[in-house]
Formats: sequence, structure tokens, C-alpha cells
Amino acid sequence: MIEIRDLHKRFGDTEVLKGIDASISQGEVVCLIGASGSGKSTLLRCVNGLENYEAGEIRVDGIRVNRDDRSIRDVRLAVSMVFQRFNLFPNRTVIENVIEGPVYVKGEARSEATDYGMTLLERIGIVDKADAYPSSLSGGQQQRVAIARSLAMRPKMILFDEPTSALDPELVGDVLAAMRSLADDGMTMFVVTHEISFAREVADRVLFMDSGRIVEEGTAEKMLSVPENDRTRDFLQRVL
Ligand code: ATP
Ligand code: MG
Repeated sequence: MIEIRDLHKRFGDTEVLKGIDASISQGEVVCLIGASGSGKSTLLRCVNGLENYEAGEIRVDGIRVNRDDRSIRDVRLAVSMVFQRFNLFPNRTVIENVIEGPVYVKGEARSEATDYGMTLLERIGIVDKADAYPSSLSGGQQQRVAIARSLAMRPKMILFDEPTSALDPELVGDVLAAMRSLADDGMTMFVVTHEISFAREVADRVLFMDSGRIVEEGTAEKMLSVPENDRTRDFLQRVL
């Protein structure tokens, strides 16, 4: 589903990704953890073609990801991304935000997109806010709208880049619950997170990244309880 082979990426003189190999199968939930600046966001951004890379290969559903190819459109339809900051359109209501992509990018009929959008809002517990504007919602509610907006595109997989780290602590739980329910439904998810308990409960696998390399990977149980790598151990000691 996602295959990353010997990926190298630099910004100017700095090599940020130093040969990343990873793959994520359909239905798998993989969490990516690692210190600030280790390259997690850059890796995610390469996967859906927001960044170019110098060497190596990424394939999504067999399609080679290259920001400059026409096929990038197919990649972006297959993979959607949820960011730390939710970037909702402030002058559109919640449901209008959710149907924006399906109507304007995919050309779905407005009524059909609205029906599906309302189903998604129901599922993440904010259907009562469908006609509200984003500014009247809490950060956690806005992030759940952002998740619904991603789902509205019917992606095959979703990349999450620290979706809860901009939220007040009391709002984190609802967003994680929404993500957990997606995972339970079999969504393929690649999640950068500092929420170790979420990783422990939901992830099929955990990857640990350090200075542009994946230095250890394994089941959540193994990685979070008995990591073998010193750097993984140090990192976990700091975040737990
Ligand atoms: P965090 O946990 O803080 O989000 P991260 O693991 O996501 O960190 P990245 O954002 O991928 O780290 O950044 C990796 C490195 O690449 C950092 O040294 C960062 O300064 C650098 N970097 C990221 N984006 C750019 C850019 N657009 N231009 C130049 N350097 C960049
Ligand atoms: Mg980041």
C-alpha cells in the first residue's frame, strides 16, 4: 500500500532523510515516533507529494510518488493528510468545509456529498455543529471536522501529523477516540504522534526515527515496553 525504499531528502546542505525503508499494508495502523527535528513531518510530506526527494522511491498503491508527475493527483486522492493545525475555511460552515473536496475536487453532486458528510459528522460526534462556523468550535471539535473532511474524500489511507499536539490536554481524548474508531473500521493509518498510550493501544507497529533514519521498529508492545535501541529508550524515558 505504502512502500518507501531508501528515501533520501535534503534541505540545502542538510540531509534530513538518510535512507528510509518502510512499508505499510492495507488496514495497518503504524505510528511514527521520534524527537523533534528527526524528519517525521518531512517523511509524511514526501509520501503524499508535498515535498520532493532526491533519491529512493515511494509507491502508493503501486503508483510512484513524484510531485511533478501527473499521477500525483491519483496519489493525493488515495492518501489524505491531517495536520497539527486544522486549516478549516473560516468563512464556511462545518458541513461546507467537509463537502468542499468532494464537490470541487472530485465533482460529486452537492446533495450526495452533503449526505455522506453528515454521516461522517454523526460518526465523529459533531453532527449538531454542521451549520456552525469553525471559530465557534473548540480546537478538538475543529480537528474532528478536519478528520471528517479527510474522510469525505474516501481516501484509502490517512496520514496524521501530530493531530493532537496543538490541543489543550482536555480536548485530546475526543480526537484520539475518533482516530481509534477509524482504526477499528480498518482504515490504513500512518500517524506521527507523541501520544504513547494511543500508540500502545492502537498501533499494529511502531517506527522510531532518529536523525533521519528509522533506527528501530516493531510491535507497539515490544517497542514501547522493551525497546532494544538506546536512543529509543532515551526518547521514551523523556516522553513517558
Ligand atoms: P517535530 O517533532 O518538531 O515536528 P519532525 O521530526 O517533524 O519534528 P521535520 O519537520 O521533518 O522534523 O524536520 C526535519 C529537519 O528538516 C529539521 O532539521 C528541520 O529544520 C528541517 N526542515 C524541515 N522543513 C524544512 C524546510 N522547508 N526548509 C529547510 N529545512 C527544513
Ligand atoms: Mg513534525
